[in-house]
Amino acid sequence: MQLVRTVAALREALLPARRAGQTIGLVPTMGALHEGHRSLIRRAREENDVVVVSLFVNPAQFGPDEDLAAYPRDEQGDADAARAEGADLLFAPPVQEVYPPGFSTTVHVAGVSEPLEGAQRGASHFDGVATVVTKLFNMAQPDVAYFGQKDAQQAAVIRRFARDLDIPVRVQTCPIVREDDGLALSSRNAYLTADERRRALALSRALQAARDAVAAGGRDAAAIAAAAREAMAELDVEPEYVALVDPETFLPMDTIEGDVLVAIAARVGRARLIDNATITVNIDSEVATLR
Ligand code: AMP
Repeated sequence: MQLVRTVAALREALLPARRAGQTIGLVPTMGALHEGHRSLIRRAREENDVVVVSLFVNPAQFGPDEDLAAYPRDEQGDADAARAEGADLLFAPPVQEVYPPGFSTTVHVAGVSEPLEGAQRGASHFDGVATVVTKLFNMAQPDVAYFGQKDAQQAAVIRRFARDLDIPVRVQTCPIVREDDGLALSSRNAYLTADERRRALALSRALQAARDAVAAGGRDAAAIAAAAREAMAELDVEPEYVALVDPETFLPMDTIEGDVLVAIAARVGRARLIDNATITVNIDSEVATLR
């Protein structure tokens, strides 16, 4: 695996593959790689000739009160993990390579970026994500880019601008990887104390409560959200939001039919955690398929 730190070096390293018509898979990350990230790299390895993992803690997507300075960083550990999963290139640029002096452009995605994470973290969050991912797409020019369903709204924002801007990339979303007890893996889980780690199960339990409510015949979004909130209260966790939305537009659903995304965010101690599940309700057979 080759480590590159500049856009010029990345392009040079990818040139032979591109000329030979080989496929390039890109896995954008902010590092502190865990099994969730590794599952994306494995999928990219299975599906492409060349795999690029990017490692960049993007200051533009952190708010002034967020954890940019404290965000876990372990470049050596990340390089070992990426190599072990078969990555060919690790692209780890310094901040000034991505945002040189004079940088003035923002990619803003209206609509899907506005509710939930956009409302909680401020519009600049998804502006920062959309801008850096657009840049990564232009830097690496991948055939396929891999993202986790863990950040479902982020993936929807990326699908939206890739389509809107005619970027020739397939945006592939991959399933959420969880601990055995249900907690979704996250670099921010490192902030949890032992007691907070126990209470962090509130999110996955709430998703299970939502699934159970649908399986029991519930179709009213407010009632399903209330069941999820109740499950969180049992672990003394107050959600920032529990929302039932259309998985593509993130518009709220009142009565659920077809695919619905149940999205949850909550602060547990110092960690701000998010989780989600897609529930499919087949209105003809009245059978709820759970994912
Ligand atoms: P991050 O480093 O947090 O920006 O995440 C990089 C990529 O890994 C994003 O596409 C995330 O959605 C994805 N990811 C993070 N956690 C998980 C997880 N538990 N399962 C699957 N993908 C994940």
